[in-house]
Amino acid sequence: MTELRLRADLASIPNYVPGKAPAPKPGIEVYKVSSNENPYGPLPSVLKRIVDTAQGVNRYPESASQHLIPALAERHGVPAEEIVLGSGSVETVSQLIRATAGPGDEVVFAWRSFEAYPMLVRAAGATPIEVPLDGEHRHDLDAMVAAVTERTRLILVCNPNNPTGTTIDATALERFLAAVPHDIVVVIDEAYQHFNTREDSPDGVEFFRRHPNVAVAHTFSKAYGLAGLRVGYALAHEPLADSLRKVALPFGVTTPAQHAALASLEAESELQERVDALVAERERVLDTLRGQGWSLPESQGNFVWFPLGEDTAAAAEIFEEQGLMIRPFAGEGFRATIAEQGANDRLIELSAVLVERGLTGGLVGGLVSVHSPE
Ligand SMILES: *Cc1c(COP(=O)(O)O)cnc(C)c1O
Repeated sequence: MTELRLRADLASIPNYVPGKAPAPKPGIEVYKVSSNENPYGPLPSVLKRIVDTAQGVNRYPESASQHLIPALAERHGVPAEEIVLGSGSVETVSQLIRATAGPGDEVVFAWRSFEAYPMLVRAAGATPIEVPLDGEHRHDLDAMVAAVTERTRLILVCNPNNPTGTTIDATALERFLAAVPHDIVVVIDEAYQHFNTREDSPDGVEFFRRHPNVAVAHTFSKAYGLAGLRVGYALAHEPLADSLRKVALPFGVTTPAQHAALASLEAESELQERVDALVAERERVLDTLRGQGWSLPESQGNFVWFPLGEDTAAAAEIFEEQGLMIRPFAGEGFRATIAEQGANDRLIELSAVLVERGLTGGLVGGLVSVHSPE
């Protein structure tokens, strides 16, 4: 067999592990809580726009996006030139990486964080620099500053962080930006910003307005529930914004996706009710788990993180066996999306099973144990 002339560095690119889809199980309802998807289907007004615009899919999408970009610019109070669409904010992050970094360059981010970061950096030929989270599963911003070298081209800050749900605070971010050389682009990935209720957390757009080297990545996949349509965007100053347009996938955001995004902005208060309900469920779940004895990191996303370490695989097996498809990271922990109430109730029940079986990664104190007497 002839060996094809593929890139020599492909072996270094990790494969993306998608959230497991549920396999049907007799007698129990199976829930997919492995991809941080929104459990609610599209609002009728959004669905109508998708269907209406589907009439025109024999035409290429409008790449200048005459409707969505001005609407986003207005909402954020920035010029339209500073908005760049992406096929999901994964593509937005990819554009930011490819516009700044190539072979020999470094991209700094916290780890563990969004699984796509190392892949996208490697795919651009650049080198990922993974800076371990601190003991509370938060970004270690001082260590991230210390990781900056001559070769650093981009820094990714995920707030709230996927998969831990932790946040950074605005004062710490300000200090961080003062310490980082001002010619390095710093991206704030706010995929979960709508679920973040912490007052001390930075508003990425506000930081963007004040800092010429800050860019922000937003998505319609999570709070707006459009994961299947693929639409996200960056806020970036010139000339970065123009560079993003150069490396963007041509026609990367379809017309139905653009219009569904626009219809979602128009339906924002209805969507906010759904976000509020998910946030209330997150707090109900976390409170109940605390009552079971768990000390888990506070989450500001639409998910919770169980840093179970070596107990992760056994715990994941129990959950999947019982129809709850969570997202395990072997040896570290698992992430469970806050979804429909039935899924959340199942999460609570199965967490109690983990306590019973002692599969808690040391996160449940000695007081709560079936082995100890009353
Ligand atoms: C889900 C997610 C995204 C973006 O997802 P898209 O569907 O590509 O918009 C970006 N960043 C983080 C941290 C995410 O978890």
